[in-house]
Amino acid sequence: MSNVIIIGAGAAGLMAAYAAGTAGHRVHIMESNEKAGKKIYITGKGRCNYSNSADFDAFMDNVVSNPKFLYSALKRFDESQMTAFLESHGCRVKEERGGRMFPISDHASDVTAALLRSLSGLNVTIDYNTKVSDLIIEEGTCRGVICGGREFRSDAVIIATGGMSYPSTGSTGDGYTLAEKAGHTIVALRPSLVPMETREDRILSLQGLSLKNVTFSVFDRSGKRLYKEFGEMLFTHFGVSGPIVLSASAYIGKTLSESELRASIDLKPALDESALDKRLLRDISASPQKKAKNFFDGLLPMRLSKLFFELWGEEPEKSFCDITKESRKKAVHLLKDFSMIITGTRGFKEAIITQGGVNVKEINSKTMESKKLPGLFFAGEVMDVDALTGGFNLQIAFSTGFAAGGGIS
Ligand SMILES: Cc1cc2nc3c(=O)[nH]c(=O)nc-3n(C[C@H](O)[C@H](O)[C@H](O)COP(=O)(O)OP(=O)(O)OC[C@H]3O[C@@H](n4cnc5c(N)ncnc54)[C@H](O)[C@@H]3O)c2cc1C
Repeated sequence: MSNVIIIGAGAAGLMAAYAAGTAGHRVHIMESNEKAGKKIYITGKGRCNYSNSADFDAFMDNVVSNPKFLYSALKRFDESQMTAFLESHGCRVKEERGGRMFPISDHASDVTAALLRSLSGLNVTIDYNTKVSDLIIEEGTCRGVICGGREFRSDAVIIATGGMSYPSTGSTGDGYTLAEKAGHTIVALRPSLVPMETREDRILSLQGLSLKNVTFSVFDRSGKRLYKEFGEMLFTHFGVSGPIVLSASAYIGKTLSESELRASIDLKPALDESALDKRLLRDISASPQKKAKNFFDGLLPMRLSKLFFELWGEEPEKSFCDITKESRKKAVHLLKDFSMIITGTRGFKEAIITQGGVNVKEINSKTMESKKLPGLFFAGEVMDVDALTGGFNLQIAFSTGFAAGGGIS
């Protein structure tokens, strides 16, 4: 039996405590907040999308950073095990669109309650309002932690401090400092699954407008497409947000930190430019005197219409038969390539996840033990792992927590 200290009572820390506790270890969790799972509480808009039932390959396709590193942990403890875990600890679950898993109650707190329930009967204690400030490192081994100036000794320490996003939930990035002290390198930290900013007034004027069934693409300076996705998005007072924009941020963050990027909305993704032009021509020949604005009624949301005509440079009241072929083609192109310059992303305060973190090359992928400092383990978002929305990030926290807790001898 080993004495184990776990820093952080979030998704990864609580699961690590369960795995270490069931393996017979004595576990002491230290949590800086006044309660456990403060971030779990706000996940999935308070409903906690705790995992995703996608098959293994599809799951991996949703992992953005270091899927190979996660292979072993996800194979050993996947969605079905997590679901069974929750059900066996009093939290019934349901599956929704896209394999998203939720507690049947729609209350995220039920997931945390199940995690805490799983610890009762095990040799696990939790100290709240307890912020770890340092590691005890002796003779090249991790021997415990320092907290409030006091030493707490142990045989193993698991850093499960989360990332930097939504710091009000307790994830303030302490784990990176601790890992660096232990000799680890930290892969550049960036907010991810986060809205994007633009300075263009014409885009900002669309605040509140949401678009469905559009394609959002982002291009680098050379015109290379970095990202393309079909779905929903919305305009905000700072730029753009919504599911396809958040996902885009996971793939373009690094490039965006170096230069501004061009984003483009295809408002009619089902038709290519020539098919769209043919459709317009058909409509025009059916009623040539019809005003230009009426042709676009079915093609554009009302809120976009004014800006569309400004960019097109034609009068909405003009009859379409008075519009030249070139001008018509320009309108078609505008529908397929409604463009804006993205200047950056919002910050960590608004990011669902932190990209970057403890370099996974320095961590044993089976046990989550540090390759730099024996006795030190990692679990969850503090590592350089992240995925798209849909329950993947919490499952990564649970799976790596399970591996870390089970990895202690
Ligand atoms: C708004 C929002 C919605 C989300 N929704 C979903 C979703 O529906 N599905 C999904 O899969 N993912 C979602 N995520 C992501 C998911 O919440 C995280 O990936 C996950 O919580 C990471 O778990 P973790 O245990 O690694 O870190 P955390 O949950 O952040 O836990 C870390 C814990 O460590 C504690 N801590 C930090 N430093 C110290 C210290 N020095 N001493 C002691 N304790 C410390 C913190 O207080 C915290 O309790 C969402 C994130 C946000 C912000």
